[in-house]
Amino acid sequence: MSLAVHTSDLDIIGAGFVPLDYAATAPCVRAAADAVNALLPRYGSVHRGTGPRSQTSTLEYERARDVIADFLGCRPGDQVIFTRNTTDALNLLARALPPGTTTVVFDGEHHANLLPWPNALRLPAPASWADAVTTAERALRELRGPVLLTVTGASNVTGELWPVRELAAVAHRHGARIAVDAAQLAPHVPVSLADLDADYVALSGHKLYAPFGAGVLAGRADWLDAAPPYLAGGGASAHVGDRAGDVRWAAGPARHEGGTPNLLGAVSLAAVCSALGEADRAALRAHEQELLAHLREGLRRVPGVAEVSIFGTGSERVGIVSLTLNGRDPSVVAGRLAEGFGIGVRAGKFCAHPLVRRLSETPGNAGCDGGLLRVSFGLGTTPEDIDSLLAALASL
Ligand code: PMP
Repeated sequence: MSLAVHTSDLDIIGAGFVPLDYAATAPCVRAAADAVNALLPRYGSVHRGTGPRSQTSTLEYERARDVIADFLGCRPGDQVIFTRNTTDALNLLARALPPGTTTVVFDGEHHANLLPWPNALRLPAPASWADAVTTAERALRELRGPVLLTVTGASNVTGELWPVRELAAVAHRHGARIAVDAAQLAPHVPVSLADLDADYVALSGHKLYAPFGAGVLAGRADWLDAAPPYLAGGGASAHVGDRAGDVRWAAGPARHEGGTPNLLGAVSLAAVCSALGEADRAALRAHEQELLAHLREGLRRVPGVAEVSIFGTGSERVGIVSLTLNGRDPSVVAGRLAEGFGIGVRAGKFCAHPLVRRLSETPGNAGCDGGLLRVSFGLGTTPEDIDSLLAALASL
């Protein structure tokens, strides 16, 4: 097996313990830390001042937006709006839907993409890509008025990729739009609005090797420009009169970015996007796939451990695997991995209750309250990390 791809901007900072919970929050890479350190001594207000610090900060903030637009393959006229995270981005989109919009969503979604939609049609989680496309097609055919199909790019439970391109084609064939929850896809696979022919994409910086607190919603401007501001306040308002309600809201991203923005979050996220944009992502992905194969092969040899899957074991996926433990409580096992071996994984339902309930309902798994054990990884993970986990699981 080849060793980690060495790209210094994409080196994980910090050492110690074995972090295998990247799907919750990934460790930070050097590019993000450097960007924060470079800006800390010289930042000022954003879009609110004339001093040199303020001017530099405004430029850096808008440059971050441009870098992220490039990273996400935005088309002319698409907007990039900074949010707190994916949950925030999808809630923003939910609030910007034209009146009467129906949202179509599969049961396999993370709660962030299941709960914000005001008028949601929930479809059962599909058993295959073909099933996903046929089920979506059947639902979309019946709907009138504005429709948004919203789907995850990669499952936060199984890491399996969803047929985003195919679903985008179906959505557009029926006059609907499609949003992609790329929280788990973007850290592993290049995501391009233009290539996927998707209308919106949402992601979280803290899963993309940047620090906490910044996320993005990117996509078509028309619905966003026509919507009431997501956060009413300074920055979102272009003119405020003397009477209540006499407000002209700003156009463009500022309309939904009320309040002082998270400059460090935006700039550090853009630094990671830029480093990833320059990296050989095919090589990074190939390395991750080698680690994934090594992990899955090793897991098959651990008695009582079984991988779960939405679309079947052969489906394409990113570095995320969830397991049933033959009746053992995943949270107890996760605790033992942490205390005894310094290994961080996650146990439970991962904010995807309907999907995890379905996947964990196997006869041998009774008494686990429907939870799973999840292992997830990415940049900086080594074969030795995987071996430590396999050895620890075997010894437990
Ligand atoms: N979507 C998916 C697929 C996720 O995995 C997560 C986080 N686990 C979210 C959305 C929500 O991300 P955040 O908590 O950063 O808002």
